[in-house]
Amino acid sequence: MKYFDHAATTPPYEDVIRTVGEVMAQHFGNPSSLHRMGEDSGKLLSKAREVCAHALQVNPGEIVFTSGATESNNLAIRGAMARYRQRGNHIVTTTVEHASVYETCRHLEQQGCEVTYVPVQANGAVRVEDVLAAVTDNTVLVSVMHVNNEVGAVQPIAEIGRALKNRHPRVLFHVDGVQGFGKLPLSIQDSRIDLYSLSAHKFRGPKGTGLLYVREGVHLTQLLTGGGQEGGLRSGTENIPYIVGMTKAMRMAAERQPALASHWSKLSRELHEGLAGLPGLVVNSSPDGAPHIVHFSYPGIKAEAMLHMLEEEGFLVSTQSACSSKRSEPSRVLLAMQKGKDCSLSGIRISLGEEHTEEDVRQLLGAVKRTMERLQIVKGGNR
Ligand code: PMP
Repeated sequence: MKYFDHAATTPPYEDVIRTVGEVMAQHFGNPSSLHRMGEDSGKLLSKAREVCAHALQVNPGEIVFTSGATESNNLAIRGAMARYRQRGNHIVTTTVEHASVYETCRHLEQQGCEVTYVPVQANGAVRVEDVLAAVTDNTVLVSVMHVNNEVGAVQPIAEIGRALKNRHPRVLFHVDGVQGFGKLPLSIQDSRIDLYSLSAHKFRGPKGTGLLYVREGVHLTQLLTGGGQEGGLRSGTENIPYIVGMTKAMRMAAERQPALASHWSKLSRELHEGLAGLPGLVVNSSPDGAPHIVHFSYPGIKAEAMLHMLEEEGFLVSTQSACSSKRSEPSRVLLAMQKGKDCSLSGIRISLGEEHTEEDVRQLLGAVKRTMERLQIVKGGNR
């Protein structure tokens, strides 16, 4: 079986697995305990914070460890809206955010917040001017993802961040960096980002752990009350083994990013060219998007049918994003890109990993072609 679903989750590095086991067995003290075992865990936690901060080129005091990006996104958005209520109640975001941002905004709307969902262009990217035009005197937060998890569209984060700081310096800028980290370069400082979310399992770390970068001077209302860990922003005993495992993966992802991006770009170009040559297929991603995500639709055929046939051929891919793939509704992201209902029901995402070779890509293209031929019969029969 060839795994082509790295945007859903990635296999942890061997070193990460080993480290998690070792820390779990040997350093199980609670970092809040005053004795030496507590102190030992506390040191591991501080070191982990330093490594993560170094990978992101920020200060260790600006890192809050969480259970992953769903929590980080919730903490950033809910925490900012609650803390800065006096400033206003308006959020600017896009129509293509991950559910952990989109559904959080929808929920906050029910609680009296106003949300503007800025539409995207046909390639899935927002225009900087459209985001800026949506900002009002009432806007507290702008939340835009770096890379879209379904189609790999890259948002103009640096341009949005800089323009916001110039024209609306009090408005906070949150970036869901989950699909961008380790894939594309992004400077938190140069992009004037105030809040930045990550999940470790998307860059070969453990699941159930992640972080939120909170710029010094930005204050949030905590979601979890309790023992006051993580500077009071995230109560609960810290998951030291997974946090240390995440730092291993983070360091490797940051170091390998340039080499991997050029490796993936090459494979992505081949995939795009190959798919574009298959009549009836609609390619929704672009070789200029994130290097690890390729996305196409075969209109008229439900995505699940294609997915399972590709699985029979030995290839594991995805329909929509892993989080929404159990619902057979049209993809919100493809609809936002004006792809139409047929296309939005038949989207297939291919996402690349470190291990993939040109030969893997060629075999996958062959499997897509054969699957289309088999499905053509079904399509014909449906008419
Ligand atoms: N944001 C994006 C862009 C994602 O792709 C995901 C994971 N699919 C998340 C947030 C949420 O991450 P997690 O499920 O690890 O909390």
